Amino acid sequence: MFNVTVIGTGYVGLVSGTVFADKGNSVICLDIDEEKINRLLRGDVPIYEPGLQELVIRNMSSGRLDFTTDAKRAVQSSDIIFIAVGTPSAEDGSADLRYVQAVCRDIAQNMDRHKIIVNKSTVPVGTADKVKLWIEEHLEKDVPFDVVSCPEFLREGSAVRDSLNPDRIVIGGANPEAVKVLNKLHEPFDAPIIETDPRSAEMIKYASNAFLATKISFINEISNICEKVDADVTMVAQGIGLDKRIGSHFLKAGVGYGGSCFPKDTNALIQIAEDVDHDFELLKSVVKINSQQRLKVIEKLQQQLGRLEDKVIGILGLAFKPNTDDMREAPSVDVIHNLKEYNSKIKVYDPVAMAMARRVLPADVVYCDGIEELLQGVDAAVLLTEWEDFKTINWGLMKDKMHRPVVIDGRNVFDPEEMRAMGIQYSSFGRQNSQ
Ligand code: NAD
Repeated sequence: MFNVTVIGTGYVGLVSGTVFADKGNSVICLDIDEEKINRLLRGDVPIYEPGLQELVIRNMSSGRLDFTTDAKRAVQSSDIIFIAVGTPSAEDGSADLRYVQAVCRDIAQNMDRHKIIVNKSTVPVGTADKVKLWIEEHLEKDVPFDVVSCPEFLREGSAVRDSLNPDRIVIGGANPEAVKVLNKLHEPFDAPIIETDPRSAEMIKYASNAFLATKISFINEISNICEKVDADVTMVAQGIGLDKRIGSHFLKAGVGYGGSCFPKDTNALIQIAEDVDHDFELLKSVVKINSQQRLKVIEKLQQQLGRLEDKVIGILGLAFKPNTDDMREAPSVDVIHNLKEYNSKIKVYDPVAMAMARRVLPADVVYCDGIEELLQGVDAAVLLTEWEDFKTINWGLMKDKMHRPVVIDGRNVFDPEEMRAMGIQYSSFGRQNSQ
């Protein structure tokens, strides 16, 4: 068992730290956000992630999981230190490493003995070398340390399950001794471990996200063509997905990807390529297709309603995907801001993301308490997040509450024929009889 410090208690740091504690390690999580740490110390988890609250409380009660804002205590109590702070997009699309750099200073200034510094944040190729330099710059005495790259692949919404059952673990380190320690730490997870050099590890993370984003934009382009040639993208996705070389995941047409990772990581990889004079044309197209896809909702609304001015639009789902409250780069944000430009009136409802949404949506959006309140009097309902609660809406009953029975399904959740049979004017993405 190990003493582990995790720096940054966001979606990645908090989940990873808790899961390491659950595997029997002694874990301390550090954050600069005092309010967050105070809530965590009270057993109150500040983010929505299924199963996390119970896991945090269980491990705090067993004494294996603690939280602090005290960098000295956090750094000195462990032999392995994970960096899990944010790496948002800078203006040019590259990854902004200022939080990683600040953490390096905190680690260096408090380092009392040998440490293994593990980078879990998603960072450009070559960052492990930079982390080494940034720590050396601030070291007050000659303390040895290793830097290892160990990117994270969890998905928000199923972060606990993913962290307990990862598809693979990537460990990129120059010193075999440090790699051995991380191997041992990850042994209880029973997942294939890829041992590699830090640069390849850093690239694996970007290449994974870029590939997944490419699959989504690919199927969305197929869906756009399906609409024009009267083919059905759901059948096409099923037909190609059964080919094991392709696989069935990430082939759902709709309003496209969002979230805190795909948009920023695709842009960062384009920038990484640009820095070495490589024009990553394919990925640039993926990004462009994804932004255009969101606006297709507006076109579909116009087809059904004509002018959008003063029309009341009800948005079902705000989070970038189900089972999370994360609103970062959510398609809903773009769609709502666009609708405001057409002077539409917006009502919204999301089972968990309402508090997060209030921080990013225009001031005059009307927040509803549930599905019925949302649909009352709307000219159209637009589904943007495929929450389970939405899949069972009885449209036959609900359409009487609506001003017009128009439904735009941004996630292809409902059956076009059933919707039509219930008298709904239904539009979805790339499916026959549903444009
Ligand atoms: P987040 O924004 O949810 O959390 C980051 C946390 O770091 C915040 O709580 C912040 O207060 C804290 N922090 C910032 N500076 C700090 C400092 N100097 N000392 C201590 N704490 C500090 O971020 P996240 O979504 O958890 O992502 C973290 C990293 O993991 C990013 O690089 C991201 O790309 C990567 N990643 C994210 C996901 C995901 O699904 N969210 C998945 C895989 C990888």
